[in-house]
Amino acid sequence: MTDILETDAAFFDGLTNRKRSVRVKLGASLDIFDGERRIDSWTLDSIRLVDAKSSGMRLRANGASELARLIVDDPAFIDAIYRNCPQLLVEEHSHKSSTARIVGWSLAAAASVLGVIFFGLPLAADRLAPLVPAALDRRVGEMVDSQVKVVFGDKLCTEPDGKAAFLKLVRALERSGGLDQSPSADVLQSKTANAIALPGGRVYLFEGLLDVAQTPDEIAGVLGHELGHVHHRDGMRMLIESGGSSFLFGLLFGDVTGSGAAMLAARLMLNARYTREAETRADEFAIGVMHGLGRLSQPMGELLVRVTGNQRGQSPGILASHPFSEDRLARMKAADKAATALPILDDAEWKALKAICKPAG
Ligand SMILES: [Zn+2]
Repeated sequence: MTDILETDAAFFDGLTNRKRSVRVKLGASLDIFDGERRIDSWTLDSIRLVDAKSSGMRLRANGASELARLIVDDPAFIDAIYRNCPQLLVEEHSHKSSTARIVGWSLAAAASVLGVIFFGLPLAADRLAPLVPAALDRRVGEMVDSQVKVVFGDKLCTEPDGKAAFLKLVRALERSGGLDQSPSADVLQSKTANAIALPGGRVYLFEGLLDVAQTPDEIAGVLGHELGHVHHRDGMRMLIESGGSSFLFGLLFGDVTGSGAAMLAARLMLNARYTREAETRADEFAIGVMHGLGRLSQPMGELLVRVTGNQRGQSPGILASHPFSEDRLARMKAADKAATALPILDDAEWKALKAICKPAG
């Protein structure tokens, strides 16, 4: 990480029970300041998550006082912690309750997941994802959803005219893509320029992406791409691939409502990325959906390039496993012919969508 990020936080030093207001800086390490004085410095590798609730994220560090806790509630800072602390979710000691909690899905679902483990992971991910019962998909989706809201905030944008325009757009894409179930889609009030599809079919468009978008086609293409991930059940596929058996065992036997599997799932959704193949497939889905509506896919590619910049020559980072935006744009350009229909939203609807997060008046 190149920039140093700072925020206010609460700190318990683990020696006294006094809660201190501190300033924390995240750079090559996480440094804790009481006024001008640095009172502790944690290496990024040593930082571990204690828990994450809507009131904030509690952290500890290996090597620090055993009971020292840092509590941060700034979403951007929490996001940076997720992205920069590689060992955040590693659990060294089994301080968790050893009573295995039997989770709420059916024995049939459990049996099918266990059966697949014997086929070997992650090779089986492709074969497995379609077999995971939809109920489990939704359940995992809910867990990931709650973590998304811890990281990005839980404010949905609901300005009525904007919401109507957004739903019109989503429904049109859904029809064009021939999805068998309606995903629930919302705009999330977060300045991150992104969109995400969760297992179970929930799609979020982030306000930050709406802010930089210039036409409905740009947003339609991105939503078409996310619907492609839903259609192919890529969320579950990715969780299986990256989490492997530990993820599935965690789901079956672990403390699902606590930190274990849910946090692993959250980390995978937020940090790990879809494979290039999954991205390319979702792009193809988006191209097909846009053409089905008589519109072009190129604007989506242009939006991606606007957001990520030209990626060639950049060191691998957050988008490492993604195809380069400029390659995606080139593919979309090559696939497009000419628009044969009017934009999906008219000017007034587009204006309303752009303002969906702003209170009316
Ligand atoms: Zn994608």
